[in-house]
Amino acid sequence: MTAFSTLPLKPALLASLETLGYATMTPVQAQSLPPMLEGHDVIAQAQTGSGKTAAFGLSLLQSIDVDTIRLQALVLCPTRELADQVSKAIRKLAANIPNVKLLTLCGGMPLGPQLASLTHDPHIVVGTPGRVQEHLKRESLHGGGIKVLVLDEADRMLDMGFTEAIDDIIGRIAKHHQTLLFSATYPDEIRTVSQRVQKHPVEVTVDAPVHQQPAIEQRFHEVEPAQKPDALAQLLSGAHAEHALVFCNMRREVDAVAQELDRRGFSALALHGDMEQRDRDEVLVRFANRSCAVLVATDVAARGLDIVALPLVVSYDIAHDPETHTHRIGRTGRAGQTGLAITLCTPRERPKAANIEELAGTPLPWRPLKVAPSRGKTLHLAPMKTLVIDAGRQDKLRPGDILGALTGDAGLDAKDIGKIDVFATRAYVAISRALANKALERLRAGKIKGRNFRVRPLG
Ligand code: AMP
Repeated sequence: MTAFSTLPLKPALLASLETLGYATMTPVQAQSLPPMLEGHDVIAQAQTGSGKTAAFGLSLLQSIDVDTIRLQALVLCPTRELADQVSKAIRKLAANIPNVKLLTLCGGMPLGPQLASLTHDPHIVVGTPGRVQEHLKRESLHGGGIKVLVLDEADRMLDMGFTEAIDDIIGRIAKHHQTLLFSATYPDEIRTVSQRVQKHPVEVTVDAPVHQQPAIEQRFHEVEPAQKPDALAQLLSGAHAEHALVFCNMRREVDAVAQELDRRGFSALALHGDMEQRDRDEVLVRFANRSCAVLVATDVAARGLDIVALPLVVSYDIAHDPETHTHRIGRTGRAGQTGLAITLCTPRERPKAANIEELAGTPLPWRPLKVAPSRGKTLHLAPMKTLVIDAGRQDKLRPGDILGALTGDAGLDAKDIGKIDVFATRAYVAISRALANKALERLRAGKIKGRNFRVRPLG
C-alpha cells in the first residue's frame, strides 16, 4: 500500500486525490506512476477497474503547463463512451488546477461545434483516432506542442482498425513526446506497435487477482488414428465451441480436417502457409470477427492470429515438442474464465506425450473418451457473418465510414456490427448472422462515403 503523497505530484493534484478519497495507489498506479512522472515511456497491461485512467490522468496533468496555451496532452480512446469517461475522470483530477482546458473530440458527432470550440487549442484533448486525425489534418488542432500521448485500450483500437489513423496522428505531432500505452491484453500486434511508437518503454504488468488468473484445463485423450475425425467433431459439439482453434502438424492435414468439419456442419476454415497471403488474411479476419467458428491451422500459420484467449484449443495431432504444446495451450484461458485445451494422442504418439509430461513435471490428465461414430450433419454456425466491400484504404475508406453507412441509412444497430477490418483494397465487416442479408441489401442499395462499392457475403 503506497500513499499518493510519496509521489512528486503538484499540490493541486494531491488535493484532488484527497477530495476523491483516493488514499493509496492501486497496483497499476504504484508501478506506472513513478516511471511516468520521470518522463519514461510506459507500456502497461491494465484492465478497466485497475485505476489506469487516474494513472495516466495524473501523469499528464503533472506535465502540462496551464500558462502555455497549446495542446500538450492527447489521449486516444477506441470509443466515444470511453472518451467521455476518461474526460470526466481527468476533469475531476484537474479540479484544483485553475484554467485547464480539456476538449473531447469524437467521431459520430457533428464537426461544426467542434470546430467552433477550437478557436484556441485546449491543453488536453481526449478523443477517438479518426476524428482527432481529421482535426490535425484540417489544422483545426495543432500537435506541435504535445508532450504526452496516451493510447488507452490500445488492443481495442487495433481491433477496430485504427492502427493507420494512430500512425498518421503520430506523424503529425511533436517528435519528442512521451507515449503511454495501456492495453488489457498483449497480443503480438501490441508489442509491434509499442516497438514502433515507444522508446525504451518501462513495462508494467500487474498480476491479476488470484480469481482472475487465467485457468487452463487440460485433457488428453488416447485415440486410434481412424477415430480422430469423429473424436474431434464430438469434442467440438460437446464443448459447444463457437470459437475453437484446432492444431494439426501438417498442412495437408489442415485442409483435410477443415473439409471434414465443414462436411459435418461446422463453420470451419483452414489456415496454413501454402495459401496466398490474401486468403490467409481473409481467414484470420473471419475467425477473429467470429464469422468462422473453428479454425484449423498449423503452428506457424496460427502465429498470425492476434486473439489471445480462446475458449477451446484442440491439438488434433499432439505437438512434436513440449514447447510447441505449451504455446498451443497458452492460446486459451482468459482472465476469470476457464479455457479448455484438449490433446488427441494416438498410441504411436505416446513418446511425445511423455516429453510433455517431463517438462510439465506432473502427470498428464488423461481422460477416457468414448468415440461414437458420426451421427450425420448438425449445423454449428458461427454467430457472425462477414461482408466484403471491394474498397479499402486506397479509396480512403475507414472503419467509421462503414459503421456510419450501416447504422445511418441502413438502420442497423451498432451492437449487431462486429469487427471491421480495412485493408488496402478491400474491407471486411462482421454482422450478426440473422441480420447479414438485411445489411447486405442495404449496403448494396445505399452508398458508403457517397459512393457505390461492390459488396458481397463471405461463406
Ligand atoms: P479505471 O480502471 O481507470 O476505469 O478506474 C476504476 C475506478 O477506480 C474508477 O471509478 C476510479 O474512480 C477508481 N480509482 C482509481 N484510482 C483509485 C485509487 N487509488 N483509490 C480508489 N479508487 C480509485
